[in-house]
Amino acid sequence: MRYISTRDNTIQYSASQAIAQGLAKDGGLLTPFYIPKLPGKALEDMRDMAYQQRAVYIMKQFLEEFSVKELTDYANAAYGPDRFDSPAVAPVHTVDGNTHCLELWHGPTCAFKDMALQMLPHLLTASLSKTEEDKTVCILVATSGDTGKGALEGFKNVPRTKILVFYPKDGVSEVQELQMVTQEGGNVGVCAVVGNFDDAQTGVKKLFSDGTVRQELERRGYFFSSANSINWGRVLPQIVYYISAYCDLLRDEKIAPGETVNVCVPTGNFGNILAAYYAREMGLPIDQFICASNSNNVLTDFLREGIYDRNRPFYNTMSPSMDILISSNLERLLLAVTQDPEEVKRYMAQLSETGRYQVSDRIRDRLQKCFKGYFCDDKETQRTIRTMFDKYGYLIDTHTAVAFSALKQYRQETGDNTPAIVASTASPFKFCGSVLEALGETGIVSGLDALDQLTAKTGQPAPAPLAGLRDKAVRFTRVVEKDRMVDAVLSLLE
Ligand SMILES: *Cc1c(COP(=O)(O)O)cnc(C)c1O
Repeated sequence: MRYISTRDNTIQYSASQAIAQGLAKDGGLLTPFYIPKLPGKALEDMRDMAYQQRAVYIMKQFLEEFSVKELTDYANAAYGPDRFDSPAVAPVHTVDGNTHCLELWHGPTCAFKDMALQMLPHLLTASLSKTEEDKTVCILVATSGDTGKGALEGFKNVPRTKILVFYPKDGVSEVQELQMVTQEGGNVGVCAVVGNFDDAQTGVKKLFSDGTVRQELERRGYFFSSANSINWGRVLPQIVYYISAYCDLLRDEKIAPGETVNVCVPTGNFGNILAAYYAREMGLPIDQFICASNSNNVLTDFLREGIYDRNRPFYNTMSPSMDILISSNLERLLLAVTQDPEEVKRYMAQLSETGRYQVSDRIRDRLQKCFKGYFCDDKETQRTIRTMFDKYGYLIDTHTAVAFSALKQYRQETGDNTPAIVASTASPFKFCGSVLEALGETGIVSGLDALDQLTAKTGQPAPAPLAGLRDKAVRFTRVVEKDRMVDAVLSLLE
């Protein structure tokens, strides 16, 4: 299995090179040259497997240089009972006959990022050995809230790694911020940036491509890599849970062998929904992808009109992990549908120069065949939380609510009631204030006391990693301007 840049297919990389490097030197994303097909009876074979075994089975198809033994060790360490509070790891909760919610937040940071970020450190450190890299890797992360904590937990105290997380000062929830600034570990740093997520992400991309900074790092014995979903090692473990969910539905006889399903994903950087697309390329019978956005609905417009235009107001919403106007992983989908790195490169150049590009009609039509975009605002997000709780007794977070709203709109508009898998991306306890308000609570308390308030309101316990934040001391208080992020890097690597 060879990997190429989305902007240039003349240079080929091995899987370990792609994972160690994170991003291609031309700014493109490293991506498999082709998507392998699952063997004919793979779904049947995996039906009765544990999640960890399914992960090995699927990831192996992309990672020739890794043995089954290696991958098994990683999967057992990443998805063990000490990390995940559900033995199923990613359990499927059936809401009604044809609506199934895939819960991806049972890991140590209570958001779906754990599904990949518990695996990535294993893949990355092994990739460093395989590529005979002797420098220490410095992982830079820009986060809209959940990636930061997920990456910190995944990489804390991992030998030969340092990790630095940048988050937008006023762009994350109270619980999210507390999770990050109390992070333990000797190799970690956390820094707030004055600006929004796109500022932080652009800042990180600039650091990556700044020759002077790279040289200084090299002098100190480090090199940069990425734990953002631009790294292939982030996307790959996410393919697993879509296939796993389908196998669960088969096993529990909620769908018949070969039956098609739709998948609905609350989307920000486009990594999660892209993984679902790759699952289909591998042979999973998915018909439609419903791409759910909040008021930052750049993807909804793109899927409807074929015009990607980030020149629009940026909204801080109550689903902050989706407050994104530049969805990096869309670039990989563009490669998949164009099969032409030159064309992708043109679009990306236009995006960086003018903030806008328009795909050809042919490409737009192809995308529309299987991708449908919907969005909702904060009011509708809260109405959806309320309805799901009142009607089904099912408590969901703000991001998952955006997805359920999108699915409802899709079903109303098309009448298509194909069984749907809805990705549930965070625990509602990460967004207590918004969830409590949605349920009609008044006098909402601040900080961690809101966890108890949500428990009192719903009768559901807060996840242990969030309740445990009470006993943690704040370790990081640094705030930098967006053009001074380099200072934080250099002081971490002193
Ligand atoms: C990161 C995140 C998303 C968006 O996922 P992408 O892969 O960036 O599209 C949605 N919901 C939550 C809770 C997240 O943390």
